[in-house]
Amino acid sequence: MLEGQMMDRSLLIIDILKHAAETYPAIEIVSRTVEGPVHRYGYRDAFKRTAQLAHALKGLGIEEGDRVATIAWNTYRHFELYYGVSGIGAVCHTINPRLFEDQLEYIVNHADDRVIFVDANLLPLVEKMDGRFPGVKAVIVMTDRAHMPETKLANVHCYEELLEGQPETYDWPELDERAASAMCYTSGTTGNPKGSLYSHRSTVLHAFGLLAPAVLPYGIGKAVLPVVPMFHVQAWGQPYAAPIAGTKLVMPGPKLDGESLFELMEDEGVTLTLGVPTIWMGLLTHLRETGKRFTHLTHLVSGGAAIPLSMIKAYEEEFGLNVVQGWGMTETSPVCCAGAEGPEMDGLEDDARHELKLRERKFFGVDLRLVDEDGGILPHDGDTPGELQCRGPWVINGYYNDAEATAAAMTDDGWFRTGDVATLTDAGLLQITDRTKDLIKSGGEWISSIDLENEVMSHPGVAEAAAIAMPHPKWQERPMLVIVAHEGKQPSANELRAHLADKIVSWWMPDDIAFVDELPHTATGKVSKLQLRERFKDHVLSTV
Ligand code: AMP
Repeated sequence: MLEGQMMDRSLLIIDILKHAAETYPAIEIVSRTVEGPVHRYGYRDAFKRTAQLAHALKGLGIEEGDRVATIAWNTYRHFELYYGVSGIGAVCHTINPRLFEDQLEYIVNHADDRVIFVDANLLPLVEKMDGRFPGVKAVIVMTDRAHMPETKLANVHCYEELLEGQPETYDWPELDERAASAMCYTSGTTGNPKGSLYSHRSTVLHAFGLLAPAVLPYGIGKAVLPVVPMFHVQAWGQPYAAPIAGTKLVMPGPKLDGESLFELMEDEGVTLTLGVPTIWMGLLTHLRETGKRFTHLTHLVSGGAAIPLSMIKAYEEEFGLNVVQGWGMTETSPVCCAGAEGPEMDGLEDDARHELKLRERKFFGVDLRLVDEDGGILPHDGDTPGELQCRGPWVINGYYNDAEATAAAMTDDGWFRTGDVATLTDAGLLQITDRTKDLIKSGGEWISSIDLENEVMSHPGVAEAAAIAMPHPKWQERPMLVIVAHEGKQPSANELRAHLADKIVSWWMPDDIAFVDELPHTATGKVSKLQLRERFKDHVLSTV
């Protein structure tokens, strides 16, 4: 091989913020804080505070490779943690505050988190878990002294006090770009949540992918507001992409209702926003009820679940926005496909154009293929559905410390099984049509059908149970339980609800519980969810 004569400089996360500090010092990060008021500062000040945080982390004894947990909303302090933790070579482990206690316990202990940074209003979550995280040495509340909540927890620190007086520069280590930088757990179909461990290289390349022209409008003079939480796959990469591009970053904090989002977007001149369809449904209702119109916003990105055609039409026709759909997963950093712009759109009438937007085109760097049940490769003809597999530099090659889940997810030839069923056109336009994984996605968050089934099966009147996803206009999907009662027993739906009440979090409670004499089964004896969904396809949930 004739080796190229180019410098081998690592792609490092901290260099993104260093670049923004040097190049776009005054371009702002604006946050609605947990305490209430809006906070603003430029990328240069963010970099200085990140250096202070790095010193504080060292003071807490955090070393390269250590996991540092965050349970926090989208704010500037969480942004500082993204960069400070990864910058010193530690791993920023973002945790979803909507998880329930057993999941939290598993995740924190499996990741072996050293410390937890938590927003003041989420502290009760950590307090409830007192004694269940033996490896956690300290809890840092992300606020100032004046807003520190009372707590009985030991080893609690105040974020602002830890930063106070620390030097505003830090000698950032020259890490290997393959070093782990961050991690995020996702729900498992069976068993425990599974961890995706990102690297500096994968994160920077993913940010470059987002910035590829023609996909999303970043740039100077633009402002992006990720409604998608920073605890959910790194806010889809926005905290990394925005500073590279000199784009203002607007953080909504804990207020995600339509009115608060609209107000912040208008006040801060937001041009691009990203979130799950449930959020866009709330915003749409608010806009329609109040007759408000955006003056700056041009692009609305929806991902995490299929966007309904009616929502694309509403935002485009009533509000003049460009709706862009994206597809991705926790395991894929997440974005692999976004937007359907391309020659296919030329000359299309509005209706056909909106329909095309139900698809999304793959990014450079990502390979996609469709596979049948025997592993045979299926055509990309826009019509034939198959299991979607992908590979690329920002796709996992295994789950953190979980050989069993890794073996199930990776193919022998190095592709990742997504558990989604999709069609692909010969021009790389993807559409998700179903999923093979036994999960229900409500408002962007996973509910495990198997966990629900197991919990309800512990009722003595239940012989067999199956949980299926049913369409819902607000939450996209809601769970429904289909029950076969034990002979001679006839538990009521209310009895089963009462039985579940102390076993699951409230948002997992099935909207409907139906009783049948028999469930359909596959040849291998498993409940055929496919047939069951077909059987209930005309059922309208009582909550709709
Ligand atoms: P998560 O790891 O929580 O981000 O969830 C990833 C999963 O969300 C995917 O595997 C899909 O099942 C679903 N998903 C994400 N984006 C879309 C989309 N655009 N259309 C349909 N389903 C999606």
